[in-house]
Amino acid sequence: MKKTREIGRIAAISVKCKICNKVFAMNRREIMWYSNIGYPLPKRCPECRRKKRKEGKEHV
Ligand SMILES: [Zn+2]
Repeated sequence: MKKTREIGRIAAISVKCKICNKVFAMNRREIMWYSNIGYPLPKRCPECRRKKRKEGKEHV
């Protein structure tokens, strides 16, 4: 709950992708969405996430 309140004060945060080291921004809505469902914030940028999802599908 404390975490959510802190997030409420900021508009967006910068996250560094652990795969390509690119810094991407996550807006409040995304952060809230992750905290609402109890997921940790992603450590990969949207591009790497999309790429991984695509690869995963191809392998299945
Ligand atoms: Zn990336």
